[in-house]
Amino acid sequence: MTTPPGRMDKEQFRALGHRMVDWIAEYWQRVESLPVLSRQAPGELLRALPAQAPETGLGDEGWDAVFADLETKIVPGLTHWQSPGFFAYFPCSASGPAVLGELLSAGLGVQGMLWATSPAATELEERMLEWLGRAIGLPATFFGPLGGGSIQGTASEAVLVALVAARHRALARGAAPEALVAYTSTQAHSSVVKAAMIAGLCRDASGNDALRFVPVDAHYAMDAAALARAIAADRAAGRVPFFVCATLGTTSTTAVDPLRALGEVCGEAWLHVDAAYAGTAAICEEHRAMLDGVARADSFCFNPHKWLLTSFDCSALWVRDRKALIDSLSVTPEYLRNRASDSGAVIDYRDWQIPLGRRFRALKLWFVMRHYGLEGLRAHVRHHVALARRFATFVAADPRFELVAPSPFALVCFRLRGDDAATDARNRELLANVNASGTAYLSHTGLPRADGSSRFVLRMAIGATLTEERHVDAAWRRIVEALAN
Ligand SMILES: *Cc1c(COP(=O)(O)O)cnc(C)c1O
Repeated sequence: MTTPPGRMDKEQFRALGHRMVDWIAEYWQRVESLPVLSRQAPGELLRALPAQAPETGLGDEGWDAVFADLETKIVPGLTHWQSPGFFAYFPCSASGPAVLGELLSAGLGVQGMLWATSPAATELEERMLEWLGRAIGLPATFFGPLGGGSIQGTASEAVLVALVAARHRALARGAAPEALVAYTSTQAHSSVVKAAMIAGLCRDASGNDALRFVPVDAHYAMDAAALARAIAADRAAGRVPFFVCATLGTTSTTAVDPLRALGEVCGEAWLHVDAAYAGTAAICEEHRAMLDGVARADSFCFNPHKWLLTSFDCSALWVRDRKALIDSLSVTPEYLRNRASDSGAVIDYRDWQIPLGRRFRALKLWFVMRHYGLEGLRAHVRHHVALARRFATFVAADPRFELVAPSPFALVCFRLRGDDAATDARNRELLANVNASGTAYLSHTGLPRADGSSRFVLRMAIGATLTEERHVDAAWRRIVEALAN
């Protein structure tokens, strides 16, 4: 028997592994000094990489070249999401325990599609979703014998599977496919529209067809009375309202839809809650009020990979009726049959998601919750919320600026005062200047004016693992300086 050439032996793996962990530890140390937003031009890395894979593998010393390339080719092409000056979009927070969980998951190389393909992968996930669900105050029906939690790759996948389960349930109750209608607010995340497009409810992002965009109130939260009217009109026309997606913490401004009121008017429809970003805050008692009425929801999703120190990807999805989900997604060819599945006594997570295969992602959640404890996680959230309040006071104290929406979490939406196209342009220019500085990276959104046009708004989303007060202060100084230039 011969060993395949080039196999990485135990000693080499150990040495390179230590070196890589050292590299990451150093990266986290120096990331603050790197320009947050990558300055690489389109095609720059493509030109620096050979067009073909190497014919021969690396020898013993060859990994030096890989580490050198990492430094000279990859790092310049990174936008540093882990930089303490990263305030764009929503955070995508990595942490030591989560990265160790990812490493272990890769090392174990387990594919947990069925309970039988690694019982520990399934049962650790079941338990972690109970820990997490209890930590944010979800009622036990979401992890009792009928409900259950699972880790999805993203909130986008979660809303799609919820939509498919809802459709399955409505059809089973006798609805005609062409009569089905879904609802979400005009401020809902684009993934809701995308799910509707994939599911064939609408042809494009304008919605129409079988997806209705419900108007929002002055604070950008869904107007429950408008939802009630839309549902009544559709029913009167013989249609079947089957799915409502509420948002707790919208992407543009972190507006919170009135969950209880929506639950009261959505009738038979499946109520999905998209709390992708803000769900994390519910580990703190003072942010629990937004969950009022959640017992009526059929599914609830939030992303530990956004603000809960769990490296991408990790989106938690709970359903109150696991059977509805499984019935809509289960297909069992002979080659996947096994005694444990047939017994009905175990969860096969392949039936809870779009793909068959799945990674052992519960490990990183386990490590994160054990390392920080719920107390540590709450402190993490409160730290960022306090920094956001601090930033908001800077904005409020400067007469040139205005806050444009409430800031219940750690996102501050603001802009230079004035409400015309010229002010939009000045805000756009200000953002470009700040982001070009390298110190901070903010993003923007558009908020609707009464006349239907879009107001350009700056978003300061605080939540990177390494962000401290001085980084927030530096970002504000940079904004003010950019204005002076
Ligand atoms: C970020 C976000 C999403 C999408 O999250 P993915 O996990 O990237 O799919 C969905 N909804 C809201 C409200 C978000 O903020």
